[in-house]
Amino acid sequence: MNMKLTHDVIVLGPPGSGKGTQARLLAKEFGARHYEQGQLLRDEIASGSDIGQKVQALMNSGKLVPGEIIEQVLEEYFKKQEINTPVVFDGVPRTMDQISFFERVMNHHNRGEQVILCFELSDEISERRLLGRVADYEGQGKEVRADDNSEVIKTRIKEYQTLTAPLLEHYKSYPHFISIDASMTIPEVDAAVRTALKPYIIAAK
Ligand code: AMP
Repeated sequence: MNMKLTHDVIVLGPPGSGKGTQARLLAKEFGARHYEQGQLLRDEIASGSDIGQKVQALMNSGKLVPGEIIEQVLEEYFKKQEINTPVVFDGVPRTMDQISFFERVMNHHNRGEQVILCFELSDEISERRLLGRVADYEGQGKEVRADDNSEVIKTRIKEYQTLTAPLLEHYKSYPHFISIDASMTIPEVDAAVRTALKPYIIAAK
């Protein structure tokens, strides 16, 4: 039987927490869209657009890009297409400031409440995993992201701690807040996510 999500989901977590992988899996398994903010920006860079040119240097240094640009990309995403399925938001909102435009766009498109799926991981494990991923990719001859190198990884983790981690406190009082221990193995994290999301998964008609 096909199953679907009842709500949009926001995944939150430091780099290396597996949130992107989980977002992709959830979208695939439950017929949702994966809104991947970092990838949308990398696509802008690859296309040589104005936005791409504005964000490239910041992204390559591991810094967050200005909220106005994120707002523009998010608005464009909803303007471009009618979206009738749940969306898994991966990478937005990423600062306290971004919550207000995110909620405005959600309300404008009648998206309803979101489930906040939060992957918690220490800085040490986060850094170790990202460095491990670089070594694996290099070993397999795969392309390594421009912001995957040891100095930039440290900046990305610091940006997360300073600018994104405060969102956890903010969302803790929301009705649909879920916290996952992301230090477990991938199958264990998968299982924990499936269990926690059960109330938000129903049979698709
Ligand atoms: P990610 O693929 O999620 O690791 O994002 C890669 C990079 O894109 C980040 O290091 C930031 O430079 C930029 N980025 C992605 N999402 C946002 C956001 N919501 N606000 C600001 N910058 C972002």
